[in-house]
Amino acid sequence: MAELDTGVQFIKGIGEQRAKALGKLGIVTLGDLIGWFPRRYDDRTACKPIAQLAPGETACVAAMIASPPTVSHIRKGMDLIKLRAVDATGVLDVTFFNQTWLKNQLCQGETYIFYGKAEGDLLRRRMVSPIVEAEGRRESTGRIVPIYPLTAGVSQLILSRSIRQGLSACAEILPDALPDEVRLSHHLCRINFAYENIHFPESAEALALARRRLAFEELFLFTIGLQRLRQSREIVHVPPCREVDMGAFYDALPFSLTKAQRRCVDEALCDMRSGVPMNRLCQGDVGSGKTMVAAACVYFSVKNHRQAALMAPTEILARQHYAGLSPLLEPLGIRCALLTGSTPAKEKRALAADLASGALPFIIGTHALITGSVEYADLGLVVTDEQHRFGVGQRAALAAKGVHPHTLVMSATPIPRTLALILYGDLDVSVIDELPPGRRPIETYTVPGSYHPRVYNFIRKQVTQGRQAYIVCPMVDESDEASDERKAVTAYAKMLQQEVFPDLKIAFVHGKMKPREKDAVMTAFANRETDILVSTTVIEVGVDVPNAAVMVVENAERFGLSQLHQLRGRVGRGAHQSYCVLISDNQNEETRARLKVMARTADGFQIAEEDLHLRGPGDFFGTRQHGLPGLKIADLGCDTKLLREAQSAAEALLARDVDLSSHPVTRERVAALFAQKADTLN
Ligand code: ADP
Ligand code: MG
Repeated sequence: MAELDTGVQFIKGIGEQRAKALGKLGIVTLGDLIGWFPRRYDDRTACKPIAQLAPGETACVAAMIASPPTVSHIRKGMDLIKLRAVDATGVLDVTFFNQTWLKNQLCQGETYIFYGKAEGDLLRRRMVSPIVEAEGRRESTGRIVPIYPLTAGVSQLILSRSIRQGLSACAEILPDALPDEVRLSHHLCRINFAYENIHFPESAEALALARRRLAFEELFLFTIGLQRLRQSREIVHVPPCREVDMGAFYDALPFSLTKAQRRCVDEALCDMRSGVPMNRLCQGDVGSGKTMVAAACVYFSVKNHRQAALMAPTEILARQHYAGLSPLLEPLGIRCALLTGSTPAKEKRALAADLASGALPFIIGTHALITGSVEYADLGLVVTDEQHRFGVGQRAALAAKGVHPHTLVMSATPIPRTLALILYGDLDVSVIDELPPGRRPIETYTVPGSYHPRVYNFIRKQVTQGRQAYIVCPMVDESDEASDERKAVTAYAKMLQQEVFPDLKIAFVHGKMKPREKDAVMTAFANRETDILVSTTVIEVGVDVPNAAVMVVENAERFGLSQLHQLRGRVGRGAHQSYCVLISDNQNEETRARLKVMARTADGFQIAEEDLHLRGPGDFFGTRQHGLPGLKIADLGCDTKLLREAQSAAEALLARDVDLSSHPVTRERVAALFAQKADTLN
């Protein structure tokens, strides 16, 4: 009878008010309703003897009412019911506020189930406003109970009852988006079993089967959708770039590119020659030489008489790129310019004019590049560096300055391969998995706070030898206002200057400083005018000071591994042996294990995998500030293995049936999923 996209109004007892409230949650159709998955579950199957209730524990108790419930009126609008319940092991005092109607429902001598938080002490146990149900009519207890996300006007019980009705109405007609062969070969349960048990688990085992099946389905559909998006993208056609002799470019480099760099360049150039806009992510560990890959693409684009833009997230990075690239490209006949927030207005106008006329082929800058007034004659290539610092909107805004320009995004945040597809949507991915030759591994140590004097001595020794050092302090607390971050850094720098290194030059930098001030400090450090830079993670991104050889991280336990890896990447960029010292007093075993990973490996991808394994995917998601797939049930942190399985199943299905013409249900579900997401993914 009921189709999944019928409205929920037919549910008995739903009423207009409640239907409206459900609407606020996005539950409009029957399909939405049964797809409203619980956030967690309470196991209320077993009852505990009263004597075994620990204070603070939430549990079920089966107990007989020993005294008639008494009602007392405490004050206006506040009535209290009290009763005493007993089982073979003890006594439980129960109170309810403002539920006077219960008085007539609870009978002395009868046994009820009470579910709530035990209070009091071991001699006298209490429960305040527990859920109470007659033994023979248990609804909210006696099973594994789903806990749903709610909104005002809808209770758990109402939701649960509505879902019960909804499920009963459609259990027989639920279309299965998983083809039978996929379901069987991956040992997944049927769709109706899955829905039944995700909402009304028969047992913990049944719940696990249901969850696995639904998470798989979600990841499977999502993967298919991404693959199809990638296919559909290829419908846009642009004039293919023509072949360019890259020899002059390679000859101009002071070194030869690594094999991995060459491969990435080849992949990108191949994209640009294809007649379809390039949409590529170039991932490479810190120091792997992504800039040269970008430079090769810029050279190629400009030699094709199309403009190129390189956008960096900070002024200092933009400046560094300019300083590095213009001596390389200008002799090759490519004029370069720098455009940032602090470019003087007059110069800005001149640059804008040259970009609009096409006289300027290559511009490097910050998001000043995407402000409304900047127009390009023919923007053919857009490169964004350290792309995780940009919202997808900014990336899109730059791309919108051209007509389907090729885009190359560069990231030093290694994303575990399993996540890359989901996180980067429909981007093609190139990986620079090799460092330029001759790099010395950075020696990494984890030490307790008591080592501070030794660490300071070590810094002093390094400075005496002409090196420089970074000291990074975390924010006092993630949730703290930025003023505390500032305080932590400034106070620490002051202490070091006065008490530890009165004779050395110490500077500090934090995120709340004006870009101009930040820049001045960083530039001074890069010019070796200061010895020690005390900082927050603002230095995390791409800054290149080859003479810096020591990275000290205070309270290292507060950082994610990938972040520590980024910080460590700030040193070891020159010829000197470099060191990374992670200071932590945290005794937590897991923390210690995490920090040990840093000492064990220098491979950003391996570190990212460990991070994913130990902390879940939050860190990776956090770095991408835009609409991520709204996964309702799959958890990318825990379901990595399942994701791999789903991905290979999706690929296999598409290989057999590329447009899903033999799998209409799957096709429809994917289309529905991506109807809402199409714009966030591009
Ligand atoms: P990242 O990938 O972190 O952006 P960069 O592009 O800043 O790395 O490169 C780091 C350093 O390595 C730079 O000083 C750069 O000149 C140097 N470099 C890049 N490629 C090579 C190479 N093939 N051989 C030697 N040095 C290289
Ligand atoms: Mg870089």
